[in-house]
Amino acid sequence: MRRVKSGAKIILFTILKYFFEKNELAVLADLATFAANLGIMSLLVIGSVAFDAIETPFGKTDKIIGGAATYISMASSYLCKPVNLVAVVGGDFPQEQIHQLNSMGVNSEGLQIKEDEKSFFWSGKYSNDMNSRDTLVTELNVLGTFDPIIPQRYQGCEYLMLGNLSPDVQIKVIERLEKRPKLIAMDTMNFWMDVAMDDLRKALTMIDVLIINDEEARQLSGEYSLKKASRIIRDMGPKYLIIKKGEHGALLFHEDKVFFAPALPLEEVFDPTGAGDTFAGGFIGYLAKLDQVDFEHMKRAIVYGSAMASFCVEKFGTERLVGLTNEEINDRLKEFVVLSSVELNLD
Ligand code: AMP
Repeated sequence: MRRVKSGAKIILFTILKYFFEKNELAVLADLATFAANLGIMSLLVIGSVAFDAIETPFGKTDKIIGGAATYISMASSYLCKPVNLVAVVGGDFPQEQIHQLNSMGVNSEGLQIKEDEKSFFWSGKYSNDMNSRDTLVTELNVLGTFDPIIPQRYQGCEYLMLGNLSPDVQIKVIERLEKRPKLIAMDTMNFWMDVAMDDLRKALTMIDVLIINDEEARQLSGEYSLKKASRIIRDMGPKYLIIKKGEHGALLFHEDKVFFAPALPLEEVFDPTGAGDTFAGGFIGYLAKLDQVDFEHMKRAIVYGSAMASFCVEKFGTERLVGLTNEEINDRLKEFVVLSSVELNLD
């Protein structure tokens, strides 16, 4: 049974690749449904698709494409196609950017376009060491009334990545799926802990993996020790917890097991925006590709997430996530293996 399924995956992947290259989006959408019905290669991504304006010590951008779901979709598209996107933008969002996502294997049937409204806009400024950032502007615009509609073709998806959004919307997405995905991963932030803790608590009971940073883990649990915090948070619902520590790597907690993956020391970091979302995209994309959900595969998925995030920070916005080659990704993964391998003689 398992061999048949992986054989089907290879054939489907080849067919999907063919239609992506031909830009046959309608055929692709049908194939996506077929794949989802078979329960393979089916990833659903929800989150913001936005305009960002970013300032780092290396420069400043005007409005460029951003948003959690944009980064997640782009990163996961290198591992698993198609990526089924559910999000909302305004009439001001450029069609070329949607085509860019399509060309990377992102299905935009679930991307609502509110012609008479404006897209979500976020602006942030990083400190000189880039370890902290201030949010300068958050204009919710279309996101303020976002009602996530799941296209029928997306039903049956086995992997769900809930990008950072209001927990109320995250819950709606789960409730609107006819079948519970095999794995539900979710991101959130301090803001929702401050303003929507009841909804957030409910969302936590519905998911499998929570992906947050160390500061958020401390706020959510009220505990400084990340090990203690991880127990408290997992008691709230998720069986797996990933705590990101920026340039210091990421921790994975499950039952009584802990795994740590470093972040790659890079010579140049231009813009950390979206690194967390890109990490999440690499993580879930790897699991969806292999269709395996256990601690050992999640360890590898974290390394994939870290590798994708290491590309993201090398240029402003999503620039570096466009046009990556398999060779570049594999070389980066090899660097991770070398970075974290050690032989100890314990005799
Ligand atoms: P990260 O650097 O991983 O925290 O993600 C940055 C991305 O999150 C930016 O591209 C923003 O557009 C997006 N973002 C910032 N604030 C919010 C918010 N409140 N809701 C949804 N997306 C947001």
